[in-house]
Amino acid sequence: MSLARDLSAPHRPPQPRNHLAPFSKPKSDSLSQSGPHRPEIESTQEKIRSVGLRATPARLATLLLLQQSDSPLTHADVAESLSANGIDKATVFRNLNDLADADLLRRTELGDHVWRFEVTDGHDGNEANHPHFVCIDCGSVTCLNDLQLTAGSRRQSEGVGEVTEILLRGHCNDCR
Ligand SMILES: [Zn+2]
Ligand SMILES: [Zn+2]
Repeated sequence: MSLARDLSAPHRPPQPRNHLAPFSKPKSDSLSQSGPHRPEIESTQEKIRSVGLRATPARLATLLLLQQSDSPLTHADVAESLSANGIDKATVFRNLNDLADADLLRRTELGDHVWRFEVTDGHDGNEANHPHFVCIDCGSVTCLNDLQLTAGSRRQSEGVGEVTEILLRGHCNDCR
C-alpha cells in the first residue's frame, strides 16, 4: 500500500548545502563561536598575519567569506553577507582593499565598472589569473579555472600589451 510506504518513509526534506550559511546567521558576535571550522579560522588568521595585517574579526570574516565563495563578490555582496555580523559597509570596503593590497584578494573589473573580489590562492584549483564568464542578461559571473591561453595566444597577447583580465561574455544556461 502506498499509504503504508509513505508512513514508513523517513520524513526528512533535502537539506540544501549553503556555503554562506555561517555568515547569514544573525546574532553571532564572534566568528570563533560558530560558523567555519576552527582549523580554517586559524589558517585564515595566519594568512592575514603573514602579510603583516592584524587579523581583526571583520577582516577574518571577509576573507573567510571569499574563501567559501565560488565566484567573485562585489563590495555590496560582501557587505550584505556580513551585515548580520554587525560589520558595516565602510569597514568591509576598507578590509577588501587592505586584503587586495596585500595580494590575498584579487580585484577584477568585468566591464560593468564594479570591482569584484576573489581569493588569489586555491579554492579547488583556482588558477591565479583565470578568465571569467559574464552573463550579459543576469550579470552572473563564473570563474573559468581550467581555461587558459595557448602558448601562441599568450605570445600574441604579450605582443599587444599586458593582459590583466580575460573575459568571456554571453548568455548563461539559465538565461539562454
Ligand atoms: Zn544569466
Ligand atoms: Zn574568478
